Amino acid sequence: MTPEVPKNHPRYESLVTREKIIEGMHQKIVAEAGLIAHGRGEAFDYILGENTPDFALKQEKLAVITLLKAEEPVISINGNVAVLCPNEIVELSRILEAPLEINLFYRRLEREEAIKNLLEKAGAQNIYGVDQSKQETIPEISHQRRIVDSRGIARSDCVFVPLEDGDRTMALRKLGKDVVTVDLNPLSRTSLTATVSITNNVSRAVKEMVSFAKDYKNMNSLALEDEKKRFDNKALLQEALKFMSSRLEELASDRKLFEV
Ligand code: ATP
Ligand code: MG
Repeated sequence: MTPEVPKNHPRYESLVTREKIIEGMHQKIVAEAGLIAHGRGEAFDYILGENTPDFALKQEKLAVITLLKAEEPVISINGNVAVLCPNEIVELSRILEAPLEINLFYRRLEREEAIKNLLEKAGAQNIYGVDQSKQETIPEISHQRRIVDSRGIARSDCVFVPLEDGDRTMALRKLGKDVVTVDLNPLSRTSLTATVSITNNVSRAVKEMVSFAKDYKNMNSLALEDEKKRFDNKALLQEALKFMSSRLEELASDRKLFEV
């Protein structure tokens, strides 16, 4: 059992999320290293102000358009993502017509089953990555994540991989695939090498992407192409870093902040 977080706590949301991750680890959904990754993310979210800035909304729009324009988009799921936003990721998969594939850095049958159950509870129907007869390997990747589903990541032209590791992002890019990611660290190798990087908390980003996907889904292909031209991934990533550094500068000059 995890302790109750008092509702009036100034950082209630963040503490509840932390408990979800810990609970997910006890249920064998989240890997131990997933806790450490979450901590890295939290540190960057503090700098963002635990809110979605404007540049991130633009990154999310570009991400949704890229996924909608793909021939065979797929959404790669790990333990942290499954625990943090199961309902939203299932809804996004449905709207984008992009299947969900469980693909773990720390691969264990028990963990795959637990994630599958969680996603099914959230309404997912056809989950890839768990049927041994459909496995294929990507030789460019050296660890267990090289095993992918022949119906999913193996043949996909555009993979959405929230909270991904840098090596794998680079391997997927080398294979000619587009990679869309969510990563609070704008300097991670994943953020720097993905086709589209979203510098935001995955819990907020996926919810916002659902809403953009509903809007863009009804746009025709030409209008969508025009809309895409409004955004530039590298420029937005630069904006993310500038936003973080100017926010730190502002806070550092705010005397009141230090008078608590
Ligand atoms: P890389 O391998 O890309 O250089 P890394 O080794 O630091 O980066 P990984 O563990 O491979 O990181 O990937 C996890 C990434 O996810 C980290 O950059 C971390 O900041 C980020 N992250 C963790 N929790 C969240 C979250 N809730 N929302 C968005 N990003 C998150
Ligand atoms: Mg890494």
